[in-house]
Amino acid sequence: MKGAVLYGPRDIRFEERDAPRIVEPTDAILRLSAACICGSDLWPYRGISPVAEPTPMGHEYCGIVEEVGKAVKSIRPGQFVIGSFATSDNTCPHCRYGYQSSCVHREFMSGAQAPVLRVPHVDGTLVATPELPPAEMIPSLLAVSDVLGTGWFAAVAADVQPGKTAVVVGDGAVGLLGVLAARQLGAQRVIAMSRHPARQQLAREFGATDIVTERGDAGVARIKELTKGVGADSVLECVGTQESMMQAIHATRPGGSVGYVGVPHGVELNGEELFYTHVRLHGGPAPVRRFLPDLIDLVWSGKMNPGKVFDLTLPLDQVAEGYRAMDERRAIKVLLRP
Ligand SMILES: [Zn+2]
Repeated sequence: MKGAVLYGPRDIRFEERDAPRIVEPTDAILRLSAACICGSDLWPYRGISPVAEPTPMGHEYCGIVEEVGKAVKSIRPGQFVIGSFATSDNTCPHCRYGYQSSCVHREFMSGAQAPVLRVPHVDGTLVATPELPPAEMIPSLLAVSDVLGTGWFAAVAADVQPGKTAVVVGDGAVGLLGVLAARQLGAQRVIAMSRHPARQQLAREFGATDIVTERGDAGVARIKELTKGVGADSVLECVGTQESMMQAIHATRPGGSVGYVGVPHGVELNGEELFYTHVRLHGGPAPVRRFLPDLIDLVWSGKMNPGKVFDLTLPLDQVAEGYRAMDERRAIKVLLRP
């Protein structure tokens, strides 16, 4: 089997790897229907997060179950399933509170930029669709696995409420699907912060009512202007830099909430400054498993089409070109066909 392996900065190779097999009795083996590249894959690709050893890449996945371990009860061969980048037993206290990405049995997935994948703890990790999906639905179901699930968590963590105003900081794929999530959760006004015309267009398709092109202090000033000087009820932070985090906090009204899902890189918060903002902060690795049943249902019933976020499709063996396209921001998100 051939899959994507990252050796170091900008050195991604499509090379022969051992085919995954059942290791634990709670595992399953999936034949993947599609794979993709995540914005977070760019951190090690760009050398910002170190790569200690050659690392199989990819953590977003959906596909057909080929084989299950002896202890697996709810998942069976032939089903089409979707899982999160964080595995979970879905029974421990953290899982029961809805924080499956802090499960005591959590493992972070990797190796999904490949035709076949091993998934641990499948009874608590995977969710099956009602039947096999039509081919055109697969990009949207793949999006549920991480990029939509993460944008959705940003909106939930930012306490998006019907009739209220949400701001989305970040026009990457997660931010764009944060726009979709905020609208689905009933926000009346969704302000997307983006300076790229193609991304602004997609933000509008996903339900953005306003676009702000300024960033930093100028962006905050513009949000204040648009909210009669008050600030937004909810702000989704979908980048993870110092600038984006401060932009999010300062765009929020006193008593409002920031949901942050961009993996922080070098972000430092000043306690005293934070104290006087009166802003709630909640975030972290998205507990996508909590949302999977509802999000699958919304896609299955045609109520949303998050797969539109994929603007470039490549055969899996061109994965290196996919990374380049996302690194250079020529593509918002790349779908890979095994
Ligand atoms: Zn758990």
